[in-house]
Amino acid sequence: MARVGFCLDPAFVEHDAGEGHPERPERLDTVRRGLEEAGLLPDLLALPARPASREELLRVHTAAHVDRLAAAAGRHVRIDPDTAMSPRSHEAALAAAGAVVEAVHRVLDGELDRAFCAVRPPGHHATPERAMGFCLFNNVAVGAAAALARGLRRVAVLDFDVHHGNGTQDTFWREPRVLFVSSHQFPYYPGTGALDEVGEGEGRGFTVNLPMPGGCGDGEYVRAWREVVEPIGRAHDPELVLVSAGFDAHRDDPLGGMALSGAGFGALMDVCLAVAGGAAGGRLVAVLEGGYSMGGVADSAAAVVGRILGRAGPGADAKAHPGFERLMGAYREEHSKHWRTLG
Ligand SMILES: [Zn+2]
Repeated sequence: MARVGFCLDPAFVEHDAGEGHPERPERLDTVRRGLEEAGLLPDLLALPARPASREELLRVHTAAHVDRLAAAAGRHVRIDPDTAMSPRSHEAALAAAGAVVEAVHRVLDGELDRAFCAVRPPGHHATPERAMGFCLFNNVAVGAAAALARGLRRVAVLDFDVHHGNGTQDTFWREPRVLFVSSHQFPYYPGTGALDEVGEGEGRGFTVNLPMPGGCGDGEYVRAWREVVEPIGRAHDPELVLVSAGFDAHRDDPLGGMALSGAGFGALMDVCLAVAGGAAGGRLVAVLEGGYSMGGVADSAAAVVGRILGRAGPGADAKAHPGFERLMGAYREEHSKHWRTLG
């Protein structure tokens, strides 16, 4: 059986984004409950979190950003209309980024095969310079940067959160060692993630965006991920796969406008595992991002972690809306400029 680490540290629950905020601590209880009800908890290995070091954060973030968040420790600070810090948010944010770094190291050391980090606050909107969109530090980017610092030459970050991972895109915009692929509702928050945003300089082609109209469900997602994400991911042949696992494209999510089922999320994780099946030898670290329907989070987390453990799950409906064919053509046309594997 695969050795899979699971990190859910008490520090993550201490971050309070404010009264009535959808990104609330109960989300993590819900993840745990989902895994428990699916009978997965006994098969997971406890993975402790620890604070990310300043050096680890500075691989992604500016010193000004790291210092600004440190200065907010112990205080209530509002960063933007969506993003706020409570007295223990800084501690939680350090632990969230540190958990991902720790998972990356343990997987690369061969101590674990894969890991799932159920962290808060989420990370993929945090840019090198600023916190935004519920995110303080970019946990998955800090994890990818830790892998590069160890000498890895090819890493992939695959992002199926309903929102575009603008912060991760910004971090690796000119970096050919990191393939960043995101499918997301578009146009939607945060406004980035158009098809022609493909990276610049040496990083050109290594940012792959799949903007999708609201209402897409299992059929559309499964086609886009199997027919675009998988061949590009396999062509990059990463030595480690990181996944920004947001569950807000679930059909019950109050923020997202998509229609994925739990089984659909499982099918997306199957694609992530296929991409990890080459040079990575199955090494994969998944990191929680969004997901605000409690039923949806429990359902999706169970499907995703089940696949990470190597358990088969129910198949997803792979039949897309006929109108989606045109968008598939547009994805192929844009991304085959760099990825000939798309044909
Ligand atoms: Zn999201």
